[in-house]
Amino acid sequence: MWTLGLLKTIKDPKYIVYSDTKIVMIRDMYPKAKFHFLVVSKEEIVGIGNVSMKHISLLEHMQQKATAYVEKNFSNVNFKYGYHAKPSMHRLHLHVISDDMESEFLKTKKHWNSFTTGFLLNSSDVIQQLKTLGKIKIPSSTECEKMLSKDLTCHQCNTTLSNMPKLKQHIRTHNYTRY
Ligand code: AMP
Ligand code: ZN
Repeated sequence: MWTLGLLKTIKDPKYIVYSDTKIVMIRDMYPKAKFHFLVVSKEEIVGIGNVSMKHISLLEHMQQKATAYVEKNFSNVNFKYGYHAKPSMHRLHLHVISDDMESEFLKTKKHWNSFTTGFLLNSSDVIQQLKTLGKIKIPSSTECEKMLSKDLTCHQCNTTLSNMPKLKQHIRTHNYTRY
């Protein structure tokens, strides 16, 4: 089943960039930006919806190792660290994604909005919520639908674009001056 694909990839040395007793960090097979990694937990947690206070140290570990990897390998690139509110793939995974949002695999409005709206739950916020509220604030299915179907808006300057090709052309003008 395709929803179990990550379980195969975390065993594939071609994709692994870091691993320890708790996590495996892999390259995303269909990166939605120039650099896109997933930190996958070895513990069998289906996803962010199944995370509770007892997982705080695991989530901190996932974020720490992701940050360390990025700092070591990408000195001048901005990254986002977050969990999709309603993930499609099994096994808890943290998205570690550069904020250029430039990739041949980024094709749909849903792809775009899943990384540029509140659908991506910031890793630090998630950890903070577990510590202070004892749970994670996960948006409802209706809220998720709304965020994923929102008008296409540039994450750098807030311009609204009418379709993906126009948006992709537009974001290239920002990235041109950055790398
Ligand atoms: P999510 O929506 O949070 O479940 O994201 C799943 C991520 O896994 C997406 O960014 C996909 O590009 C990526 N992906 C899908 N299949 C595979 C696979 N077999 N191996 C590695 N990454 C994958
Ligand atoms: Zn813009």
